[in-house]
Amino acid sequence: MAYVISDECISCGACESACPVSAISQGDDRYVIDADTCIECGACEGACPVGAPVQG
Ligand code: SF4
Ligand code: SF4
Repeated sequence: MAYVISDECISCGACESACPVSAISQGDDRYVIDADTCIECGACEGACPVGAPVQG
């Protein structure tokens, strides 16, 4: 399962540049992960200051 970003996201943007396949983009109220592009590497989880990305 692809990673998903929970509503803990504070839209800091750190995960977007950490993703090796550019699966993350800014959404309306949080950043979002394109499930079809995510390769489940976990880099976003490590980059996030609030632990918002979780494995779906
Ligand atoms: Fe990108 Fe990896 Fe996070 Fe998937 S798990 S969104 S590939 S950084
Ligand atoms: Fe949101 Fe975490 Fe990504 Fe920052 S690093 S935009 S808080 S998910």
